[in-house]
Amino acid sequence: MSINPSGWRPSLAANDTVQEPTGTVTGNRALTLEEPLLFELGTSDTCGVDLPVPDDAISPRLGGLERDEAIGLPGLSEPETVRHYTRLSRQNYAIDLGIFPLGSCTMKHNPRLNEKVARLPGFADLHPLQPEMTVQGALGVIAELGEWLLRLTAMAGVAMSPKAGAHGELCGILCIRAALEARGDAREVILVPESAHGTNPATAAFANYRVESIPGTPEGRVDLEALKARLGGDVAAVMITNPNTCGLFERDMKAISDATHAAGAFVYCDGANFNAIVGRVRPGDLGIDAMHINLHKTFSTPHGGGGPGSGPVVLSQALAPFAPLPFVVRTAEGYRLVEEETAADNGGVQAFGRMSAFHGQMGMFTRALAYILSHGADGLRQVAEDAVLAANYVLRSLDDVLDAPFGASGPCMHEALFSDRGFADGISTIDVAKALIDEGFHPMTMYFPLVVHGAMLIEPTECESKASLDQFIAALRHIAERARSGDSALSEAPIHAPRRRLDETLAARKPRLVWRD
Ligand SMILES: *Cc1c(COP(=O)(O)O)cnc(C)c1O
Repeated sequence: MSINPSGWRPSLAANDTVQEPTGTVTGNRALTLEEPLLFELGTSDTCGVDLPVPDDAISPRLGGLERDEAIGLPGLSEPETVRHYTRLSRQNYAIDLGIFPLGSCTMKHNPRLNEKVARLPGFADLHPLQPEMTVQGALGVIAELGEWLLRLTAMAGVAMSPKAGAHGELCGILCIRAALEARGDAREVILVPESAHGTNPATAAFANYRVESIPGTPEGRVDLEALKARLGGDVAAVMITNPNTCGLFERDMKAISDATHAAGAFVYCDGANFNAIVGRVRPGDLGIDAMHINLHKTFSTPHGGGGPGSGPVVLSQALAPFAPLPFVVRTAEGYRLVEEETAADNGGVQAFGRMSAFHGQMGMFTRALAYILSHGADGLRQVAEDAVLAANYVLRSLDDVLDAPFGASGPCMHEALFSDRGFADGISTIDVAKALIDEGFHPMTMYFPLVVHGAMLIEPTECESKASLDQFIAALRHIAERARSGDSALSEAPIHAPRRRLDETLAARKPRLVWRD
């Protein structure tokens, strides 16, 4: 390990493998720059801005709450701060650098037009408590986007305020609970098929339902007969991900909805994978009662690293009256934000409450509407078709070197699923993922869905050119061949990344955030 002239040492996570010596004084490798933690870099007597000396008169008013000693936050000048984060960003991977093959995540290109629109001061600088008459344009965007979502899904109502997919799931389940309570029908169980996304059972449990799993068929879809056999008077809802996390369309969706409704329960559909079917299938036609749409997946928006997101929920006629406040209505005088509602205003039933203090993510609304309007209805349909085509191209280009457990179930939808079957002893999925980093790609989703051993889930999206897909396929093919032949060097990967392989469990559970000797 080398010592930088300014005194810092490259930091190591508690469990980090020691880097190869660089042979440089700084630890840098040409344009790959080492970067210490802020805490190693800054000293608490430096500051990037000139702060006024606190007024003596303030101190008595703090009533003894002031700190006795410095808390040790690092101080940096503005150029040091800018360089720190810029250097770190160059060690990172981004959708603007290359394909992001994560499955179950829809990481797609974010058209610059959307970004430009979202940054217009009239949208970006709004305050949620501004008088209604000064935000008519913003309310109009929310209303128009909501109308598009209803048209694309053939549903009756939409709640725009949920701030992410999982938040939307909770909103939908709370609508279902409110509808059941309104008819005096306490039910305790939510059925979740094995092929559902992990947030589905988590949401059901969070909402105090008992989760029961429904098995899948060998071809990767919900076992309709098993579902029918379990339906009964204690079942509040069935939560289904469609297209599911095996990358397959649930063809029995209508039969599932009919059976669920016949048992007095509701159908929740996880619509995060709407990218694969938008413009082709309308969930309302399949009998779905509630479905969230991840605006940040289907309708672009940069996401990852925890945000931002937006998960509007479309609702059937039966659930729409229970949608949370607030919502936008179009009146002869303009748009109005409804913040309160009595049961008398609402056909005798009460909305269940609110999902968030304000209306939702304005930046996501503007991006999604810009995306929808620039594609148009025909363009959105082509998004779905191209996404499905790209995923099938990946699936069929690699199924001779990677095991495709549901390859015989027909074409996949938006994502291609492989297992670790056929890898030599001692080689596992994580080795393949780490080797992809050396080839300059973000790894695919690993070990999910759980129904497949050593799963590798790849969602190329519609945005990738054939040339970009071919490059990714060539890299993965090469790595798959190494995995089959038992190339033990795979377990060393990545060797070219800024950090070698971490013990990821330890790194997550015991992150080393402060350097100490
Ligand atoms: C992404 C995703 C979710 C969760 O959405 P968030 O916005 O991350 O909360 C739920 N289900 C599926 C299928 C997803 O892909």
